[in-house]
Amino acid sequence: MKPYGKSKLWFVIGSQHLYGPEVLKEVENHSNIIAKYLNESEEIPMTVQYKSVVKSSKEISDICLAANADDDCIGLILWMHTFSPAKMWIQGLNYLNKPFVHLHTQFNKELPWSEIDMDFMNLNQAAHGCREFGFMGARLRKERKVVVGHWQDPEVISQLSSWIRAAAAWADWQQLKIARIGDNMRDVAVTEGDKVGAQMKLGFSCNGYGIRDIVEVIETIKDQEIKDLIDVYYNSYQVAKDIKENNTKETSLKEAARIEIALRRFLQEGDFGAFTDTFENLHGFHQLPGIAVQRLMADGYGFGAEGDWKTSAMVRALKVMAKGLKGGTSFMEDYTYHLETGNEKVLGAHMLEVCPSIAGSKPSLEVHPLSIGGKNDPARLIFTAPSGAGLCSSIIDLGNRFRFVTNIIDVTQPDEPLPNLPVACAVWKPKPNLKKAASAWITAGGSHHTCFSQAVTREMIEDFSMISGVESVIIDDDLDPYRFKQELRWNDIYYHLSNGLSS
Ligand code: MN
Repeated sequence: MKPYGKSKLWFVIGSQHLYGPEVLKEVENHSNIIAKYLNESEEIPMTVQYKSVVKSSKEISDICLAANADDDCIGLILWMHTFSPAKMWIQGLNYLNKPFVHLHTQFNKELPWSEIDMDFMNLNQAAHGCREFGFMGARLRKERKVVVGHWQDPEVISQLSSWIRAAAAWADWQQLKIARIGDNMRDVAVTEGDKVGAQMKLGFSCNGYGIRDIVEVIETIKDQEIKDLIDVYYNSYQVAKDIKENNTKETSLKEAARIEIALRRFLQEGDFGAFTDTFENLHGFHQLPGIAVQRLMADGYGFGAEGDWKTSAMVRALKVMAKGLKGGTSFMEDYTYHLETGNEKVLGAHMLEVCPSIAGSKPSLEVHPLSIGGKNDPARLIFTAPSGAGLCSSIIDLGNRFRFVTNIIDVTQPDEPLPNLPVACAVWKPKPNLKKAASAWITAGGSHHTCFSQAVTREMIEDFSMISGVESVIIDDDLDPYRFKQELRWNDIYYHLSNGLSS
């Protein structure tokens, strides 16, 4: 079974009647062979379903409308094996409300130089058929990825796979419900935003719930349920000795388990895929949810602290993109710096809520005081992320549009052990270096809250930007600070004009 289960990509091939049934039959055979190859590729994370060779404006419009109506279809792979006059595509592409990727490939890898004749030339026409189709994509201002190369080329498979993951996250956003439990941390700006605008443009909905809604569930949790979950904790983590020896800490752990069961039930019953909380709105909670949020994130829920619903949506999207891949994905915050010249690093963490999917080794379950919020000592999982490539991605609301700000990073290890740090963390060196990266990040307005991932790639973020229509700026080794500022200015004009009155 592919990681995305019953979701499918429709493989649709453009042609026309002019070629006659024999050639069209051959086109169909080739298309089936390619679909089979893609399905057998372990790297392609979703079922590719050959649909048909479309030969007229009517057939094209019908298949686009059918794709719109099929909940399991998350997008289309379009390929012009032969020539497909592109006026035939105008109505269909205007109807289509699912993303598509343009696969620019050819069935034959190599030209049969000594045998090539006009039959071969007429059958293998993607070289100009796809250009005709590309013109219409450009003429209609359709954002799409163009993947070029032989269909067995590993680079083609990898580029398709990246796009499929981004398209899966987009499909998820179209039905995602976010529960905003409590409101925003008072006076904080970057976690606010236009929820109506987000639903219009990005699909997901975010609605508010009172703390009492969760407290009512907390009050129904039975002792046996708590006992069973504590057993899971003991089997899954390194549980700190003092929890067993200290009655107050043991009570805290039981309370944490009670909160986890209640939160999970609330989210499941409301069919939510993401949520937020805030330490300023905890009336009726005995402690800030720590391990509860951590374990819910590990199960795929999006999360943002302090009411940060946009980051919650982003964590959810990146978790969907990362499905089945090695490396974890978590809510994160740039917390504090190591500013030693030439060895500058970020220590990322949060008060409690870092996802154990990014743990380098078995997490330690501990209970410690929290110096903020005035509640009882919460239980939390403590660990450090493993070294390797990664990224931090942020989403901000600029008033007339959303912007993704992404920094490519090298995750590294703390210079020394951190015996007094009571929270999970990740240590990284931003690319190209902390000074330039932080300067660009701050110039672009990137949030202190991010989604940290060691599974999602830059290409997936770019594909997600293309599919969602959200502006995306990337800070990596190629950063030129002057050009970066220019890009921000130019983007301001582009999005202002392209959004028109609809923003
Ligand atoms: Mn925070």
